[in-house]
Amino acid sequence: MKTPAKVNLSLEVLGRREDGYHEVSSVMQAVALFDTVAVASDISFAGETAPAGSARQDSGSGFFAGIRCSNPSVPEDGANLAVRAAFLLRECVDAPVTGTVEIDLLKNIPVSAGLAGGSADAAAVLLALARLWDVRAALPQIAEIGGKLGVDVPFCVYACAAANPGITDGLGFTRAHAEGAGDILTRLRERPVESVLLVKPDIAVPTAEIYEAYDAFRKDASPVSGQCPAGFRNDLQPVTAARYPIVAEIFERMREICESSGSVLMSGSGPTVFACFQNRAVAEAAEARAREAFPEMFVLLTETL
Ligand code: ATP
Repeated sequence: MKTPAKVNLSLEVLGRREDGYHEVSSVMQAVALFDTVAVASDISFAGETAPAGSARQDSGSGFFAGIRCSNPSVPEDGANLAVRAAFLLRECVDAPVTGTVEIDLLKNIPVSAGLAGGSADAAAVLLALARLWDVRAALPQIAEIGGKLGVDVPFCVYACAAANPGITDGLGFTRAHAEGAGDILTRLRERPVESVLLVKPDIAVPTAEIYEAYDAFRKDASPVSGQCPAGFRNDLQPVTAARYPIVAEIFERMREICESSGSVLMSGSGPTVFACFQNRAVAEAAEARAREAFPEMFVLLTETL
């Protein structure tokens, strides 16, 4: 399955809930930057004979989920969100599942980038296993299950479904307003394809760290506003930019590069900064300038899905 990254076209943090999650209001948009996730499963449900060749089982539960990943910085164990997705879905199946799941992950989405790469992989595994195991769950149920793994997963379930219509009956979507802890999704009508220029410095920004710093920041000062045009703002940006000055630098430079032709914003908790353009030629010119300005960084011109 091809599973797409997302950008946040806006991200407002509305407060912290008692369960520790933050309430957000965000417009999420899938973009044409994909990980490839291949899933094979050799399982049996309670009462069936154990499958042949399932030697690598977790001895405790009779279920094993293994992963191979093309990016060495991504964990190849139970810490991988894709593996956690397999275990989570197993818990949601009525009859106990034994056997093996093998996941092959080709990572193109940069890691810890604010592009929801791990969430996208988890979404793909949920959809693939639901199909392979013949779990009779509709997309909203799979998205709800995904919400237990992280705030971006519900949207990623729909975006992954849209990117793989053959597997999921094409009921997904690629643009939505996310509320609650990312689990209340309202589909937004797709707009004409826009070019999206991504720039990511060679740093990893842990999402949890930024939300914690945001809480402290919110106590100390009123949130910075007016940094971006209305509707195209990210409450986490001032926090990430204060802790990682390179993000502020990229943001300023990108604004110079794009002038009035594209809107610039940080995605999620960062550090990826992106710009949206309606005109492909203008976007390509901005891409060339960005490559010159940030020769050591991940620079990619992609588009909305
Ligand atoms: P978000 O935008 O949802 O905050 P992100 O793009 O900032 O996500 P990810 O790349 O999804 O961040 O994940 C970052 C962390 O999750 C890293 O610590 C990484 O080791 C871990 N991780 C676990 N599984 C995966 C996966 N399948 N792909 C990438 N990272 C993963």
